Amino acid sequence: MHDFTYDDQGRLCCAEVPLERIAREIGTPVYCYSLPTLRRHIQAFEEPLAGIDHQTCFAMKANSSMAILTLMARHGLGADVVSGGELFRAMKAGIPASRVVYSGVGKTTSEIDMAIRAGIMMFNIESEQELGVINERAGALRKKAPVSIRVNPDVDPQTHPYISTGMKQNKFGIDIENSVRQYLRARDMEHIEIVGIDCHIGSQLTDITPFIDAVDRLKVLIADLRGLGIGFRYLDLGGGLGITYSSEQPPHPREYCAAIVDAVRGLDLKLIFEPGRVIVGNTAVLLTEVLYRKETGKKTFIVVDAGMNDLIRPALYQAWHEIMPVMRKDGPLEKADVVGPICESSDFLAKDRELPVLSRGELIAVMSAGAYGFTMASNYNSRPKPPEVLVDGSDYSVVVKRQSYEDLISGEAVPEGLM
Ligand SMILES: *Cc1c(COP(=O)(O)O)cnc(C)c1O
Repeated sequence: MHDFTYDDQGRLCCAEVPLERIAREIGTPVYCYSLPTLRRHIQAFEEPLAGIDHQTCFAMKANSSMAILTLMARHGLGADVVSGGELFRAMKAGIPASRVVYSGVGKTTSEIDMAIRAGIMMFNIESEQELGVINERAGALRKKAPVSIRVNPDVDPQTHPYISTGMKQNKFGIDIENSVRQYLRARDMEHIEIVGIDCHIGSQLTDITPFIDAVDRLKVLIADLRGLGIGFRYLDLGGGLGITYSSEQPPHPREYCAAIVDAVRGLDLKLIFEPGRVIVGNTAVLLTEVLYRKETGKKTFIVVDAGMNDLIRPALYQAWHEIMPVMRKDGPLEKADVVGPICESSDFLAKDRELPVLSRGELIAVMSAGAYGFTMASNYNSRPKPPEVLVDGSDYSVVVKRQSYEDLISGEAVPEGLM
């Protein structure tokens, strides 16, 4: 769970630091992370796997700040990357390439070359054609590329359609029926080494059943492949374990890990996990200030200084984030929409929410903002990206600076003679 509680003066704190202090010193909007919670969540995932041959590869797209990646590296975690930029960050943060798995349907030639040269643990192959290209590039670089095939097991993870990835209609992975053919192709490729099998069925799963269904399908496939003389070392089960945003009751990592370890018993494969959200999701809040109250007769809008450019999940996935006032308020509640300053009707952080009556200048915390928050931030409406601060005990440090207006135009050029 999270580390944001009211102190005896009614101030919402991250660890021992009142959020109001961070807002005063750093300004808003700002992402605030609890370092103790980050450590605790890493341990909660790793402890049940102690003694199990495994490697946890943090899914960086959930959060890729250098400070957080460095923490992952120090705890022995690897990374699941989906771009050359993520591979660059992972290695800069001290994650050895040998602990990096590379997923994603659109790896470019230069990204493939970069990963082969770096010596990553494996490519998770997402299409027939990609397999051919990786073989070709490995040949050109006089190397062997380690691969696993990302199998699409066609199970319904019962999550939001935008974050379900393991069904037939999704663009990810290779059909389970076609997988054997691709393994046979891979076996005959000169510059490919088959090292594993992979699946990732979706995100924010709140039930263990789809994970186990996927494992059961992979087990059949692994047996078939072994029958054909195709063996390998790794079984990569992806990420996807959900967290509590409102009333969801996802399994604890302990239960999830125990169920998986039980399901794969006897396979004698090293397990790879790619958790993202479950590690970082509940470690942070987005802190924002109320700019205006706007009452239209039909609705009350609380206009805040954070928008969909800072946190896009509500706009993109209709995601629900709890809103907590930064000073405890016990008065009456009202129904309101919390909206940002962006010129889009999809720019909201909460809709029709029962909230304490908030006025201009008050601060609120948008909870559970540690995953797919800052990493999805953009400069839309020419808004500088917010900073990230990491809180430990009674102090904090800025780990990502707020962008300046100059940052917004750096890298732009105006051709000479432009009329
Ligand atoms: C996004 C993603 C993950 C992480 O998903 P979470 O739901 O954040 O755990 C893992 N593996 C792959 C291939 C992904 O695309």
